[in-house]
Amino acid sequence: MSCARADATWARASVNQAMAGVGDASPGFPDREGPRDECGVFGLYAPGHEVSRLSYFALYALQHRGQESAGIAAADRGGHIITRRELGLVSQVFSENDLRTLAGELAIGHVRYSTTGSNAWENSQPVQRSEGTNGSRRAVALAHNGNLINALELHDELLQRGVTFSSTSDSEIIAALIATHPAREVEDAIADVLPRLRGAFSIVVMTKDRVVTFRDPHGLRPLVLGELPRGAGEEGGPARYCVASESCAFDIIGARLLREVRPGEVVTLSEAGLHSRMAAPGGRPAFCVFEYIYFARPDSRMNGVALQVARARMGEILWREAPVEADLVIAVPDSGNAAARGLARAAGLPQDDGFVKNRYVARTFIQPGQELRKHGLRLKFNPLPDVIVGKRLVVVDDSIVRGNTTRQIVQMLREAGAAEVHLRISAPPIKHPCHYGIDMSTREEMIAHGRSTAEVAAELGCDSLHYLSLEGVYEAVGATRATHCDACFSGDYPLAGSERANGKYSLEQQRPLPLVRA
Ligand code: SF4
Repeated sequence: MSCARADATWARASVNQAMAGVGDASPGFPDREGPRDECGVFGLYAPGHEVSRLSYFALYALQHRGQESAGIAAADRGGHIITRRELGLVSQVFSENDLRTLAGELAIGHVRYSTTGSNAWENSQPVQRSEGTNGSRRAVALAHNGNLINALELHDELLQRGVTFSSTSDSEIIAALIATHPAREVEDAIADVLPRLRGAFSIVVMTKDRVVTFRDPHGLRPLVLGELPRGAGEEGGPARYCVASESCAFDIIGARLLREVRPGEVVTLSEAGLHSRMAAPGGRPAFCVFEYIYFARPDSRMNGVALQVARARMGEILWREAPVEADLVIAVPDSGNAAARGLARAAGLPQDDGFVKNRYVARTFIQPGQELRKHGLRLKFNPLPDVIVGKRLVVVDDSIVRGNTTRQIVQMLREAGAAEVHLRISAPPIKHPCHYGIDMSTREEMIAHGRSTAEVAAELGCDSLHYLSLEGVYEAVGATRATHCDACFSGDYPLAGSERANGKYSLEQQRPLPLVRA
């Protein structure tokens, strides 16, 4: 732990400077205004492999799931856990030297967008705790994707037991419950703790000799297992395994997707290979349907669904549900790309780029100032008048939350000479908040809350608007509502008591962040 803090100090000034332009794109550079991705986790047990380097690249592939902080914890079997975590992007946080320091045989990693607790260094992950239990010490590092809905309750209980915290994230509560548990084996501790956690959690825990991963009984957030390729001279040796939020993390390190971690399952990656036990069987499956539409990378596979293919199918169904007389299909890049291709194919309409997107816009450190601010989104999207002028456009995107960005996009297209702008959105209207690890606006800020589709269209200034139906989403992914969560669209929360859930800053409201760092 002290290593993590010492490491962090030298890098903090430069990374904090960088953070002025990273993640918080809002002051001068309105990024897409969709829901904010939650977090990404990774872990592997792989003696003989460069575990920190593999973790680095896996996190690099998971960067879309969180841009506020990144961290890796590594250990030698039986040795010490070393953690390096910092605010910033994966590429900013780790140097070659860090990866050499994080040598070991097992490692876990995390990229964060804050859903409980603010964007502070203390809340970056992996969380590391070392506690005395039954005369021995248990050291754990933990990486978490999701959100507990009973965090305050558990926090109170631990405080009463004299447990202290250094962060305001619900992830440290889980780490503390596991680290202080009296069971001898960490898997037994997890099996006992897991049913007490309510909400969404896909978690990777590392002790000094194993990586243990587990998922909430509803399987709200994704978690997949992979097998690493064998290195030279390893042909006859034991297979080595890894775990990640998305399969795109496996592709980058040459690992093979094996399967999903099952809801309520605890899986150990160790010298003994892969060992599984069910700690909380029988929960109502409630996988987040928004992962298919928006959060996950299109080259990931989830529950057997190739997301790029499913998103294109959403575009086809969008057209079937709401055809319109038009000349050209364009996407809001990159979020609408796959659905636009599917829609254009189904419509038999040409597709072109209506905008050029500046992909580096979130990484500039210079604020635009008043003069440029009025140009708004042009800093990020620049329309192509020669493509657009005089055309009746079908404009495809994957979601609308507050509507500010979409309104500006419609206006830019009109200014660039579009004859008509018909919006097609490959998700249903977002009307309700998420309590399971996705940071969305409040109901009042959501443009679709309390408005009909015609009223939203009038607000956005488009000629027509159609949202993909919920049935259309499920048809595209070949699944049913019975095994998924779609609460942000339908208001049907799969877990009782979700509406009373603690807010993002609830732990801070209860107890402010420590002002003095150790
Ligand atoms: Fe996903 Fe929406 Fe359910 Fe949250 S409320 S888990 S974003 S489907």
